[in-house]
Amino acid sequence: PPVVAVRAATKVYPSGLEALSTLDLTLDAGRTTALVGPSGCGKSTLLRMIAGLEQATSGTVTIDGEPPESVATRGELAVAFQDPSLLPWRTVRRNISLALTLAHMPFDGSRVDELIELVGLAGFGDVRPAALSGGMRQRAAIARALVTQPRLLLLDEPFGAVDELTRQDLVTELPPLWRSRGATAVLVTHSISEAVRIADRIVVLSPRPARVVADIVVDLPHP
Ligand code: ADP
Ligand code: ADP
Repeated sequence: PPVVAVRAATKVYPSGLEALSTLDLTLDAGRTTALVGPSGCGKSTLLRMIAGLEQATSGTVTIDGEPPESVATRGELAVAFQDPSLLPWRTVRRNISLALTLAHMPFDGSRVDELIELVGLAGFGDVRPAALSGGMRQRAAIARALVTQPRLLLLDEPFGAVDELTRQDLVTELPPLWRSRGATAVLVTHSISEAVRIADRIVVLSPRPARVVADIVVDLPHP
């Protein structure tokens, strides 16, 4: 699994706002790291830079020494955001299989069906997203992120938009799916308790520009 290296990364938005300033951070291979901190402190900016969706103004972000774009092009990196962004005209199964197509991977119906089961959507492969609850859509979005077997998984508040009981279920059931495969994962969350339950390490950022103010090893047996 890949190591993510953030080196002296600075991000200044066109408005002049400096979201990150010479940030250094190394994320360990095969671990799940949670980024926490107050709203607006730069967590999503950092995650988007690791995903190759946002360029650093100066400094570098590399994944095993490569630019994130190269890793993403090979389908080895997957992202899931708070908004599941499923295509409404496609069934759950075809939303998930689209990720294989976009990563130039062969269609693998049995892998898609296996993931549908693993995320707890058995029986819902043929329905469209409008027929699903928020938590079920989030499960579908996680299945779509995992179907390519990414070596690096980037999650931005993936459980943010679901009710508390559903969140408890998702937090218990979904992380083992990437942890057991040894993927490196980064989770942005507002919730320390969620971070403790999911992550091996918690990096706390302070706002404007983001600075690492605490770096905590979580020494709990995770499922
Ligand atoms: P969160 O605090 O949950 O990360 P925000 O409401 O801060 O969410 O941001 C939501 C989206 O709006 C993000 O994709 C971010 O890039 C964008 N955004 C936030 N602030 C600004 C801004 N000042 N100008 C333009 N886009 C922004
Ligand atoms: P967080 O994820 O911790 O809530 P963000 O990374 O979304 O923080 O935002 C960090 C800061 O950068 C905030 O002040 C936000 O308003 C600003 N910001 C985020 N995205 C944009 C954008 N696209 N354009 C301008 N400012 C932005």
